[in-house]
Amino acid sequence: MTTLAASKNSIYICKIIKLRRNAWLLANGPCKKCSSWERLEIDHINPKTKNRKEARYSKLWKLKELRRNIELAKCQVLCYNCHNEKSRKEKEERIKYDDVIVLEVFNLKTKGLTQKKISEKLGISQQLISLWIQGKSRKKFFNNLMVPNIS
Ligand SMILES: [Zn+2]
Repeated sequence: MTTLAASKNSIYICKIIKLRRNAWLLANGPCKKCSSWERLEIDHINPKTKNRKEARYSKLWKLKELRRNIELAKCQVLCYNCHNEKSRKEKEERIKYDDVIVLEVFNLKTKGLTQKKISEKLGISQQLISLWIQGKSRKKFFNNLMVPNIS
């Protein structure tokens, strides 16, 4: 392909991507939370179901229709503001969940379980458990937990 043809082709692909995205937003809008039609975005209803490779903007709209629809079936339309708000809450939830797991690791450790046993029980890599126990990634959290209660 000549350079001119290649650049024409990439402009064409850009247009296709925009057309497909806009058509989907139009068909699935407005924002599910506030009914706005402004700055609409695509949100994975449950972020855990997201196929991180295929869900990327550049990839998603280039996918063949069937594969694209599999990914889009997990999505809803949100406006920029509602999307931001939802992502913020999801992040908070993830942090809370992490704390619960870290606490459980600590509890099992004080019960005398080996890192291998804890790893098997919780389905977390031994490496991560070891990091947590050594307090490299969660130093503050563990310091708080391990302050002895002297009364
Ligand atoms: Zn909204």
